[in-house]
Amino acid sequence: MITFQNVNKYFGDFHVLKNINLEVSEGEVVVIVGPSGSGKSTLLRCINRLENITEGSLQVNGQSVNARETNINTLRKNIGMVFQHFNLYPHMTVLQNITLAPKKALGITDEEAKKTAMLYLEKVGIPDKANSYPSQLSGGQQQRVAIARGLALHPSIMLFDEPTSALDPEMIGEVLDVMKALAKDGMTMVVVTHEMGFAREVANRVVFMDHGAILEDSAPTDFFASPQEERAKLFLSRVL
Ligand code: ADP
Ligand code: MG
Repeated sequence: MITFQNVNKYFGDFHVLKNINLEVSEGEVVVIVGPSGSGKSTLLRCINRLENITEGSLQVNGQSVNARETNINTLRKNIGMVFQHFNLYPHMTVLQNITLAPKKALGITDEEAKKTAMLYLEKVGIPDKANSYPSQLSGGQQQRVAIARGLALHPSIMLFDEPTSALDPEMIGEVLDVMKALAKDGMTMVVVTHEMGFAREVANRVVFMDHGAILEDSAPTDFFASPQEERAKLFLSRVL
């Protein structure tokens, strides 16, 4: 569903992504780990073209992400994204936050959008918060709303960029549980996280990045038991 072939990206002179080759198949959960500044967010942001690649080929669902004829709105409809900071609209209720994009992008009625939103709010375990404002929710609940919002466009891929990094420790579990359920449902997911327990339990593959390059791409059991690269060993010794 996602294919990077010899992808390079520069910010000016800075070589941020170095010859990236990566494939994500339908229903796979790929967890990306690596030190801060290694290019994880940039790689993720290329997938829905929040960033443009400089060289190489990047395909999503058989479409070339950076081709002139690719409709960016159609592309993004297909890819939900959840960030570290939830980016909910503070002046809108939970329900309004979730229904906004579907009403615009899918051209459905308010009624239909609300019905779908409620389904996803149930999925993330907080249907009772539909009429609350973001400020009335805990961080974990806000992030679950952000996930419901991402799902409301019926994407075929979900991207997560450190979705639990801004949360108090006691709220991390509830967000990871929602992500685990999503993975179990067969959603294709690319997840940047420092939660090694999640990677071990849920990932089909763990990708280790350092200084803009992918140094390892292995099954979690292999990665955690015997990382091949020195830098991966060092990284693991710090985070585990
Ligand atoms: P990670 O998510 O692994 O911490 P990022 O992808 O955010 O890494 O960043 C990789 C590198 O690219 C960092 O050195 C960062 O400072 C740099 N970078 C990120 N975004 C930009 C930008 N818009 N312009 C210039 N440099 C950037
Ligand atoms: Mg990042």
